[in-house]
Amino acid sequence: MRNIIFIAPPAAGKGSVSDYLVKSFGYTHISTGDLLREEIKSGSELGKEIDELISSGNFVSDEVIIKMVSSKLDALKDKLFILDGFPRTLVQAHKLDEMFENNDVSNVIAIYLDINIEEATKRVLGRMICPKCKKSYHKFNKEFVPKVENICDICGVELEHRSDDNEETFKARFDAYIKNTSPIIDFYRDKGILYEVNAMQTAQNMFNDVVECANDKEAQND
Ligand code: AMP
Repeated sequence: MRNIIFIAPPAAGKGSVSDYLVKSFGYTHISTGDLLREEIKSGSELGKEIDELISSGNFVSDEVIIKMVSSKLDALKDKLFILDGFPRTLVQAHKLDEMFENNDVSNVIAIYLDINIEEATKRVLGRMICPKCKKSYHKFNKEFVPKVENICDICGVELEHRSDDNEETFKARFDAYIKNTSPIIDFYRDKGILYEVNAMQTAQNMFNDVVECANDKEAQND
């Protein structure tokens, strides 16, 4: 199977599909959103700055995020990995190319999860997250409701709403995505390693499509 970069608007399901790939195929999952939320929880000065940016739907600076990811990349050597939420700008995409080159990483594909803003908004407003294992649930979607209302199936702790999962911040996050992240789709298309998956079908069908992409022998980057 191949290493995966997910490109997707917020709430397209990259976290859920990543959980599935970790459980089923042993992928290592790097989510920049999770790394940033950990920094916020640590209470550091940097965490406070990050909190303000995320809560208003803005991106964290390329400099901060690139530092965070590069410190993780060493640990990914010889592992099958998913990058979830990085790169989100063209600057990050170019930097990632450099990091891959310096670390001898190959066998990478980019998967674009396609969803429209109406569906993504519906999803984000019902989303609940386990503060401990980060698993994502949904209040109304049968495929993702917890077994016991508001409690994580795995950890047994109470689920939380992400502070940026509200209608106003979500609109800003979607706009930031359109402006900054959409050009990355063409960047990977031009490299011949882009796959597109419909994120508005059932989660299981989306997972199956992603696995098919990860197994495809035709990607041109070997
Ligand atoms: P996510 O959990 O992927 O939805 O990310 C939550 C928030 O973290 C985003 O809305 C951004 O504010 C910030 N963030 C995550 N990854 C990045 C990145 N690669 N570059 C800049 N900001 C990021």
